[in-house]
Amino acid sequence: MACEHRDSHERHYLPAHNGLIAPHPACRECGYIKNISPDKAKKLGYFANVLAEMKNYRGEKLLSDAQIRLILKELEKVEGFDDDYFMTFTTQKAAFIKAVRKYSSLSPSFVKSFLSS
Ligand SMILES: [Zn+2]
Repeated sequence: MACEHRDSHERHYLPAHNGLIAPHPACRECGYIKNISPDKAKKLGYFANVLAEMKNYRGEKLLSDAQIRLILKELEKVEGFDDDYFMTFTTQKAAFIKAVRKYSSLSPSFVKSFLSS
């Protein structure tokens, strides 16, 4: 069962992504320290929207509904995909490109062009 994560009030002073010490909240439930870098994970809905955009790309149907369902299922299988405490957008992008490539012949750079940087 995945933890919903709720920020604790106390802060842990740890190095952040830029190497500087910064106050990090931890989860009150599981104790996990939150990723506070700007490389913030997005919700699954963001990737569902990206897939919808790819589906109707310039009047061309690049993905079918069945492919989209399979790709989203694949992302749901990635442990903690939606978990913004430890997942980063960079990791999500890699998993997304891999999943799209598994069920379509779209090139990685083309898929990447749909994702914000
Ligand atoms: Zn938690």
